[in-house]
Amino acid sequence: MVDDSSGQPADPAEGLAGTPDGFERLWTPHRMVYIQGQDKPAGPQAELCPFCRAAAAADTDGLVVARGETVFALLNLYPYNSGHLMVVPVRHVSDALDLTEDEAAELSAMTRTAIGVLRDVMAPQGFNLGMNLGQVAGAGIAAHLHQHVVPRWTGDANFLPIVGRTKALPELLGDTRDRLAAAWPGR
Ligand SMILES: [Zn+2]
Repeated sequence: MVDDSSGQPADPAEGLAGTPDGFERLWTPHRMVYIQGQDKPAGPQAELCPFCRAAAAADTDGLVVARGETVFALLNLYPYNSGHLMVVPVRHVSDALDLTEDEAAELSAMTRTAIGVLRDVMAPQGFNLGMNLGQVAGAGIAAHLHQHVVPRWTGDANFLPIVGRTKALPELLGDTRDRLAAAWPGR
């Protein structure tokens, strides 16, 4: 199961979608994607929430891959693997039971679309899907519900995370976003 809880030191990219988990990221192409927190939405609560900020940002700034009526999909800034997406309601809600029928249905549909797009673009051999509801369950951003979609490949969980607290990510987030967005149906 996905666990994005942490108590790790702030990252320079604090405030963006994703939760630092104590692992260093080895960005093999040696160039960090730079994302700015401009285009802030209205409202003090929304301003602090990385998902609300991403929802209001330009797609490339917020690493948004696709937008629906009530939900959207974006890349995790702290991915467990290349292509680690999150499907998120646009509305700032924390509990699955707070979703409307429409939101719940679209969240489910977009999760399935995400699986299909990731399969087409990155050819993973499996997926981890899941939501952590509440801090105690491991939610890094408990205030705003998010569904993780993590593609898996044989051998992806190698020794690096254990020995070096580092994950090797062979593709830049911006490049991943561009590829997934290009393959997303209806975009
Ligand atoms: Zn929010």
